[in-house]
Amino acid sequence: MLNKVSLDTIAAALAMIMGAEPPQTSAKANQALLEYANTAFEGKKADRLFMYNPDAIAQWVLEKYPDFAKEALELCDLKLPLCSVMPSVTPVCFGTLYTGAQPAIHGIQSYKKPVIQIETLFDSFIKAGKKCAIVADDECSIGKIFLEREMDYFIFHTKEEVNAKAAELIIKDEYDFICVYNGNYDAVMHKNGPEAPLSLAALHENSHVFSIFSELIKTHWSAHNSLVGFAVDHGCHEIDGGCGSHGLDMPEDLNIMHFYKAYPAK
Ligand SMILES: [Zn+2]
Repeated sequence: MLNKVSLDTIAAALAMIMGAEPPQTSAKANQALLEYANTAFEGKKADRLFMYNPDAIAQWVLEKYPDFAKEALELCDLKLPLCSVMPSVTPVCFGTLYTGAQPAIHGIQSYKKPVIQIETLFDSFIKAGKKCAIVADDECSIGKIFLEREMDYFIFHTKEEVNAKAAELIIKDEYDFICVYNGNYDAVMHKNGPEAPLSLAALHENSHVFSIFSELIKTHWSAHNSLVGFAVDHGCHEIDGGCGSHGLDMPEDLNIMHFYKAYPAK
């Protein structure tokens, strides 16, 4: 069975939590996320948002192998089951996550990485006077489809450089919104299958890296109401030859789980 709440509900919620107008064509805001932030920040807005975007970690993988995502699962209070969009491939799904719009509206409907022309969450924040940064690798969708905005892009060849820069930016505390992409689970899963030891090791690395970012945020952003998200794009399934894939209209590929953690200002 498919999860009932769509991935397209996240953008409007994140905009509202940060005191910005939702992107123009975004779907209605995710109520559970709004309520979580409202309670955690005692009715105040957040002024820092950090979104960690791993790739292709399916909800069923998290449910079957929770020990490999233990750090992320344990530190986050809010677990949001969501239904991703079709076709369930990276640029289509991250397009929806950061516009709140269905693929027919944001314009990416296949595995292509053009710059999105409609209003995104980045544009909402920029309009509200917020400083945004994307930290991503040079091949990935997030490093390409949100280009051409008045914000900073830190694009590197390896995830080690990506993660080092993300840590540096957190410590400097100069951006209101930092969006980070880590594709390691996706890359390993395609070659080895979703449940292979190497893939589960990549899942563990995603969870561990996220926990380090969260610890840095807890310490270095303690003057701010900060919201941290572990936010994947789509799931995956096993195919012949022990490989992994995604892109189909099936619960394995479409059902995902986002985790969120609020750190109220001290
Ligand atoms: Zn993906």
